[in-house]
Amino acid sequence: MRAGPSQEDIRRHNLGALLRHVHLGGPISRAELTSRMGLNRSTIMALTSDLTAAGLVREELPRETGRAGRPSLVVRPESSRVYVFAFDVSPDRLAVARVGLGGLILDRREVARERDALALGELAGVLAGFARQMRRRTRDDTVCVGAAAAVPGGVRKGDGVVTFGPNLMVEKAVPFGEELGRRLGLGLPVSVGNDANLAALAEHSRGVGAAVKDLVYLHGDVGIGGGIITGGHLLGGHDGYGGEVGHIVVNPGGRACGCGSHGCLEAEVGERALLEAAGRFRSGQHGRDAVRAVVEAADRGDIVAQEALKRVGDWLGLGIANLVNIFNPEMVIFGGMLREVYLGSAAQVRSRLTLHAMAPQRERLRLRTSSLADDATLVGAAELAFAHVLADPLEVLARAGT
Ligand SMILES: [Zn+2]
Repeated sequence: MRAGPSQEDIRRHNLGALLRHVHLGGPISRAELTSRMGLNRSTIMALTSDLTAAGLVREELPRETGRAGRPSLVVRPESSRVYVFAFDVSPDRLAVARVGLGGLILDRREVARERDALALGELAGVLAGFARQMRRRTRDDTVCVGAAAAVPGGVRKGDGVVTFGPNLMVEKAVPFGEELGRRLGLGLPVSVGNDANLAALAEHSRGVGAAVKDLVYLHGDVGIGGGIITGGHLLGGHDGYGGEVGHIVVNPGGRACGCGSHGCLEAEVGERALLEAAGRFRSGQHGRDAVRAVVEAADRGDIVAQEALKRVGDWLGLGIANLVNIFNPEMVIFGGMLREVYLGSAAQVRSRLTLHAMAPQRERLRLRTSSLADDATLVGAAELAFAHVLADPLEVLARAGT
């Protein structure tokens, strides 16, 4: 017979759950924690004391309660002291942020990236250099508890090896996390996740999809990635490559796709498809600004731009109808350059959904744009870096050397 959880297991679980409330929800009173967690007051007091002693939270008297009696102490994350490094590799940009517990971006650095200028392995040195510069500017009492990176490619489950990435010049498997960890030199493992998967988690924990348990997130850059959250959990698949919605086929025999197939959603809706349809595909003109320019031209009455958005909106709506029929999400979120594309083609997307999605699935469906916008992938990387802190707060702090 399997033994039940030990007292220590329960305490570790409760510490993590309490810290998660403070990390995601911000300052919260002990009284509120007692009611939300369904634990008694003395247990909450013991847990907050442990987290305070570890330097993860602090407790303060509330400013004004307006109520008689002894006020309940407010628990706040130690955002300026406990932090992680978040890295974001996107086709056109490299970003590094120092993110405090509670999700506060304390410091950030961004540089434009020339597509195809550096292979993924070489980027590790650039990113680690930025992080080291930031670290030199921190106070002595700060502690780095984790690091994670978002990449626009396939990340193998378990070891964070990037195995494919047409937009990253990945020709063979790259142990990106290991390389970044070595160059950072903090003695910390660096987790790696697919950018769209991490952006989905970010929107689910801090963005427009907060409190939504079933959502489909679509991320557009050069290609189209996705993150599917069902019942509050990210769908990873057997090897960690699940959710590649960019490669569902919407137009058999259609445009060639970087994956080797034809008529994938990415090939019909991606940046190149839109720019070509709008007669604006020229070398050196790409990225979000080029996509935005098509939407703005359509708004001004440019017929070619309007037709291009209609065409792309048709394929996008068809792809989403398939996803809605399979996953029955409460919300579909458009992120990256797909925010602009969706805003410029919402009527098309909706009419395709009406035609192809089953009525019970679409009746209560909400279509939304990402609220974290260009930071969704970076915020997602930060959340991945914090995940192990929330799983075992005291152990992680002890290892981080405090
Ligand atoms: Zn494809």
